[in-house]
Amino acid sequence: MELKFPDGTVKEFEDGATVKDVAASISMSLAKKAVCGKLDGKLVDLNQKLSDGSIEIVAKDSDDGRIALWHTAAVVLAAALHDLYPNIKFGEGGVTEHGFYFDTDKEDGQVGEADFEKLTKKMEEIVKAKEKIEFVEYDLDEALKLVENDEYQTEIVKENAEDGKVYGHKLLNHVDFTSPVSLEDAGKVKVFKVLSVAGAYWKGASSNPMLQRIYGTAFSKQKELDEELKRQQEAHERDHRVIGNNLDLFFVDPKVGAGLPYWMPNGATIRRTIERYIIDKEVSWGYEHVYTPILANVDLYKQSGHWDHYREDMFPPMDMGDGELLELRPMNCPSHIQIYNRHIRSYRDLPLRIAELGMMHRYEKSGALTGLSRVREMTLNDGHTFVTPDQIEAEFKRTLQLMVEVYHDFNINDYRFRLSYRDPKNTHKYYDDDEMWEKSQRMLKAAMDDLGLEYFEAEGEAAFYGPKLDVQTKTALGGEETLSTIQLDFLLPERFDLKYVGADGEEHRPVMIHRGIVSTMERFTAYLTEMYKGAFPTWLAPKQVEVIPVNLNLHTDYARKLASALAARQIRVSVDDRNEKMGYKIRQAQVNKVPYTLVVGDNEKEQGTVTVRRYGQEKTETMAFDDFKKILDHDLETYSRN
Ligand code: ATP
Ligand code: ZN
Repeated sequence: MELKFPDGTVKEFEDGATVKDVAASISMSLAKKAVCGKLDGKLVDLNQKLSDGSIEIVAKDSDDGRIALWHTAAVVLAAALHDLYPNIKFGEGGVTEHGFYFDTDKEDGQVGEADFEKLTKKMEEIVKAKEKIEFVEYDLDEALKLVENDEYQTEIVKENAEDGKVYGHKLLNHVDFTSPVSLEDAGKVKVFKVLSVAGAYWKGASSNPMLQRIYGTAFSKQKELDEELKRQQEAHERDHRVIGNNLDLFFVDPKVGAGLPYWMPNGATIRRTIERYIIDKEVSWGYEHVYTPILANVDLYKQSGHWDHYREDMFPPMDMGDGELLELRPMNCPSHIQIYNRHIRSYRDLPLRIAELGMMHRYEKSGALTGLSRVREMTLNDGHTFVTPDQIEAEFKRTLQLMVEVYHDFNINDYRFRLSYRDPKNTHKYYDDDEMWEKSQRMLKAAMDDLGLEYFEAEGEAAFYGPKLDVQTKTALGGEETLSTIQLDFLLPERFDLKYVGADGEEHRPVMIHRGIVSTMERFTAYLTEMYKGAFPTWLAPKQVEVIPVNLNLHTDYARKLASALAARQIRVSVDDRNEKMGYKIRQAQVNKVPYTLVVGDNEKEQGTVTVRRYGQEKTETMAFDDFKKILDHDLETYSRN
């Protein structure tokens, strides 16, 4: 057997040699460090028999070593569960970016957090005893027998079978057919923690049964585990779903509809502020805002190509019983095309910029739904500019300029530009015109280079109708997602036979630029919530000022007078006149992340002043009420830039 090493050398080994043998043949120290191997890119156990291919020896503290450790921990978790609950069934197990998980199903009540203590103890027992984990080959029949009472594992075993054989990892009474690799014994899972449990559909499909996914993480040193737990805690505190709950911004109730958010008054206030801001901004930049229906005859989406290229993300059409099929729109482009086509357009009308806060529906996979950042009903800050071919580049740059200005107002700095191209290996998924793709991808790149902006390129991320520029931002959970997007489109104008009359009096074909600046209201609000950690700048904060009278009997009138004066200036203000201690009220205002708390007592009342405390600050400042109003004015004029 021949094995190729990362440095390119090829060596001969006896048939049946294991990773361990190979490591030992190189050096004793390598054999000591080795925890598993990687054969042709796939992780393999130390004592797994190898065959011809490229081999890498994986050391303990490498990234692959950690993945192998997490797979091992998943096996330990499953063995412990099996021991505690002999009838438990197992779905898929695996590793995430930060640990491992296993899906379970139990007829007599699911595993929950209340079981974690018992579960942890059992796992500790297995780890301390350094129980062996064997890599075992089974005949398919034999394996099926082992999992005969578990329909999920039965399916997994059948899927994994090759030539009538299946491989598994045996730990105590448990045989795991899910983990691709494991370390030699449970003792290697030195420090671990069972973290949480959440529902997960079998195979990720919402038509399948819901299993309980148990998450955990493991490391070889306590310090690493502590750091990871700290990181998770911080991510949790920033998570827009957590903040959204604490500040009462929104909620989703899967019983009513997964991915269909309800905006509570506080969240709605933030959203309305964003909506007003962006409409005003766009109108001042030459956009014409419209309203169009969210329902349309399915023929519209057949003509646009969405039906052919995007159907799996669309809700099925509603059959009205009289032959009419109505579709919930997944995109607003065909709607804006109707607006374009309503009149004969001349070159003098172009660029024609149509915009809308357009509601749309997409049937996102249930496993992908996340709070407000990935939903099934969303309202996009959408816009379509119709240009002559000569105007594409200038309009693209202008749109980018608008985007940068908006980002500046929201103080968004942490993002990367991505040029999203079609997948050259899968061109059938896209509009079929090689020349168009080459040309427009080149054009985007040239425009970015010309503006001196940095970007990275990604194949397979384009829309089906054309390439795009995406703005990629990070979420609290560490993922990356698209916030803004600018897309070139030569296809839809073709499909809808769009025209304009040129200076030559002849008919010509316009080009469309699709763009979303502040994304969907949902994703943008989720993003801002995480970015500001819930401490919204004054202009966006649901409540901007809280007024607290020192003594309810003596100072409430004055507090109310101030509040009315502020409310008259459109400031979102309230007086905390509850029968509570002042210190408590001040703390509450901090918990609710209200930008300004005004405390007013005798002195303030007599002198027409206020004692101001900014969110997150200990120190207070007493000033004339008029001066406080000036601070507010300044905040509102400068958005987030103060
Ligand atoms: P993604 O790749 O994130 O699914 P997309 O490329 O399909 O998005 P577009 O059709 O370009 O998205 O939609 C415009 C913008 O709408 C996206 O850039 C994103 O910010 C936002 N968006 C898309 N899908 C969702 C969703 N399910 N929930 C919330 N916002 C979304
Ligand atoms: Zn569009």
